[in-house]
Amino acid sequence: MFKEVAKKIKNSKKIVFVTGAGISQESGIPTFRGKDGLWRKYDVMQLATINAFYENPLLVWEWYNERRKGIFAAKPNPGHYAIAELGKYVDVVVLTQNIDGLHQRAGSLNVLELHGSIIRIKCTVCNFKEEIKNELNDVLPICKCGNILRPDVVWFGESLDQDIWKHAIIHASQCDVMIITGTSLVVSPANTLPIYAKQNNAMLIEINPEKTVMSLNMDYSLRKSSAVALSEFVSIFRN
Ligand code: NAD
Repeated sequence: MFKEVAKKIKNSKKIVFVTGAGISQESGIPTFRGKDGLWRKYDVMQLATINAFYENPLLVWEWYNERRKGIFAAKPNPGHYAIAELGKYVDVVVLTQNIDGLHQRAGSLNVLELHGSIIRIKCTVCNFKEEIKNELNDVLPICKCGNILRPDVVWFGESLDQDIWKHAIIHASQCDVMIITGTSLVVSPANTLPIYAKQNNAMLIEINPEKTVMSLNMDYSLRKSSAVALSEFVSIFRN
């Protein structure tokens, strides 16, 4: 099976990756779901929603500050690096649900962050946005306009940035191979991207140690970690 997949990948013109928290698991960043996921330790619905933020903004800020510290300390792993290297051989676009910036730190140039970035903050009212360079202390950050700032991430129940989403659909609809890795595919609308790819007769390859709700819709499901499987894929191009 691997040979067949390898041949198709080597002949592909455009590969779109759909990635999720699992690709960063081997960098030490916990996932939400799956074995040892964050869901098991916190009630994320109490933290990653706009209602939670307005009810207790300090608690939500503390949680994001803590996660950001872990993310700043983490390094991209061979899975992130393999995707960046593939971009040298073929047109590669990464559509990520991750907010950790590790694809870009590994060198991927074409990354659309569907759920925003933990490294940016924005105002809850005005258009102010800024990248965080240093750790924030655990007090409520306030914008120059006087309103509270928030992480520039998409919370459950919020809409995606419409421009980013429109481009994500265009890329998904144009690829001939889509590689879906590190995602449980339960979060909408990101989990509809494989459907757009399938409409273009793209080959769908899932890389995930565990089954997902869409495993049966895949052309191939590789039960491996993303670091292992993607390193194998990139070696096909080197030879
Ligand atoms: P998820 O937590 O729902 O699912 C993670 C998936 O990754 C599971 O299916 C699991 O089996 C798989 N997985 C675990 N280890 C893996 C590995 N080594 N290689 C390949 N797959 C592995 O993740 P999701 O689908 O991205 O969930 C959506 C939400 O989680 C997104 O909104 C995202 O913003 C948020 N999130 C992001 C980060 C991050 O930026 N690193 C971390 C946690 C959660």
